[in-house]
Order: sequence, then C-alpha cells, then structure tokens
Amino acid sequence: MLPFARVTVIGLGLIGSSLLRAIRAEMPTVRLTGHDASAEVRDIARHLDLADDITDTVGAAVTDADLVILCVPVRAMGDVAEAMRDDLPGEAIVSDVGSCKAEILAALTAALPGQAIVPAHPVAGTENSGPESGFASLFKGRWCIVTPPADADSTAVERVSELWRRIGANVERMDAAHHDLVLAVTSHLPHLIAYTIVGTASDLEDVTRSEVIKYSAGGFRDFTRIAASDPTMWRDVFLSNKDAVLEMLQRFSEDLSALQRAIRWNDGDALFNLFTRTRAIRRSIIEEGQDDPAPDFGRTHS
Ligand code: NAP
Repeated sequence: MLPFARVTVIGLGLIGSSLLRAIRAEMPTVRLTGHDASAEVRDIARHLDLADDITDTVGAAVTDADLVILCVPVRAMGDVAEAMRDDLPGEAIVSDVGSCKAEILAALTAALPGQAIVPAHPVAGTENSGPESGFASLFKGRWCIVTPPADADSTAVERVSELWRRIGANVERMDAAHHDLVLAVTSHLPHLIAYTIVGTASDLEDVTRSEVIKYSAGGFRDFTRIAASDPTMWRDVFLSNKDAVLEMLQRFSEDLSALQRAIRWNDGDALFNLFTRTRAIRRSIIEEGQDDPAPDFGRTHS
C-alpha cells in the first residue's frame, strides 16, 4: 500500500521539483500538488507539468493533503508553516528537506502545535537551483536522514521513511542535534572552505586571477563546483547551524595549524601519513557507492 495518497510540495526548486518528479515516476497514482512563492517558478512548474495542481497560495496547496513537504530555504520554513496553519488538515503529516534540522524542528513545532512533524534531509543535490534543474533519480542510492522529535508517532515516521524508500533513498534515523553535527563536517565545512578558496582567488589582482582560471585544472576547479551552490540556501545553512559549524571550524583551524607547522619544520612523515589516511577515505566513499569510481570525477579527456 502507498504511504500517502495526496502529497503537497511547497518550494519548487531543485529539491522540490526532483521530489515531485520522483514520486510521479515511482508512485504515479499519488495526487501531487505544488506551490512556490514565486509566480515565475509556478508558471515554469505548470509548463513542466510537475504536479496535478500548482496553486497560487500556500493555503490552497495544503487543504486536502496527507503529507506536506517543505522544500524552501531553511530560514523560510517557520514562515511557510505559519502561513499554512489555518488550512492544514489536523491529520496531515508535515515534513521538510532542510539541510539543518534542530532549528527547523523548533520552528515547525512552534508554528504547528499538535501536528505530526517528521523532518527529513535527503543527502543529495547539485550546485544548481530552480525547477528546471531537478530530476527524478536525484535520490536513488542516496541517504535520507529522518530526524523526528523524541515523542513522534511511530506510524507517521514509518510512512515518511517509506515514501523516501519508494523513490530510491536509503533511510537512516537520527536525532536532530546529532544530524547537525555530522553534516557540519561532511557538508557545511567543505562548502565554507570552498567558498573561502574561491573567494580568495576572486580577490586577487586581475592578472593573477586570469591565471587562476586558466590553470584551474590543478585542483581549484573542483572547489568551484561546490562554491557555485545557491547563495540563499547556504547563507541560511550557516546561520541556522551556527554552533556545530563553529565547533567544526575550530577543529579544522587547529588541524590546519598542525599542517602549517609540519611544512615549516620539514616534517615529511606527518604530511605523508595524513595524505595516506585521506586517500583511504576517498576509496571508502567509492566502495560505499557514494561516488563514481571513474578517475577525475569521470571527466572525459578525449
Ligand atoms: P532552490 O532550488 O532555490 O528552491 C527553493 C524554492 O523555494 C525557490 O523556488 C524559492 O523561490 C522558493 N521559496 C522561497 N521562499 C519560499 C516561501 N516562503 N514559500 C514558498 N516558496 C518559497 O533550493 P533547493 O536547492 O531546492 O533547496 C530547498 C531546500 O532543500 C533547502 O532547505 C535546502 O537546505 C534543502 N536541500 C538542498 C540540497 C541541495 O543540494 N540543493 C540538498 C538537500 C537539501 P525564490 O527563488 O523566488 O526565492
């Protein structure tokens, strides 16, 4: 049996539009409704036929939903929840896909007291945004971390987990605070480092900057993919997951200082040992099916 008959997605960008495409592909009888704050995005969504109905208001989108999934920037979640409160059926489950979970859980709980809330985070994405950039297979073979509050109804948690499994994700359950710490290391810190390196290059003198672009295949260009990610999304992630990010940044700064010392004092063993450990991590990621084994990220060299 399908976990839900009527699913509403609010926010029709990369993740929201991918979710609609994936549900339609895997569960074609589910009735899909979508809404986005932007009239232009709504028009594109209608043109792409992303859902059975694209509504002009958030209230109209949720009136008969079994499940509402918020796919808006992290710091917009609370406002959207407030805006839909009066039209939301009491038995509907509310979920979201935000990249940090503790602050969102607090915002949704405050806005929707008594409602079943089952937050989730699909660890899948690209550097692109908007409805045209989504695709149905985005979540296949990727993890979706479900972070329900301690007192969540177990049936609601299972139904949301089953929806993600049906569209190809592997589901893991985690406490929201622990999720935020784990993602601070695996996602938020790497983005911060990429934004820093690419920002430094853009501050260089014009002549040097053109050389940075010209010789970017030396490593720089791999950071630029991450640093091209959506500015609104990432501003919200860092402000929302401030404590965990600052804690991991402190650890990172200490490790960077240790590397600086090793270079200054010609400690080749320290460098070699670290680079050997990091190479093993790349191999584990490939072995776990979380990246393509092709060298150089599968770029063609013809
Ligand atoms: P996106 O492509 O920019 O889409 C977000 C959409 O939400 C935009 O169309 C935006 O419209 C709309 N929106 C903003 N405020 C709204 C509101 N109050 N009501 C209704 N719609 C609103 O972003 P995304 O990459 O899909 O990210 C959406 C969520 O997924 C974020 O919470 C993010 O943390 C999470 N996530 C992202 C990734 C990733 O790799 N991108 C991965 C996992 C989870 P405007 O453009 O007009 O503002």
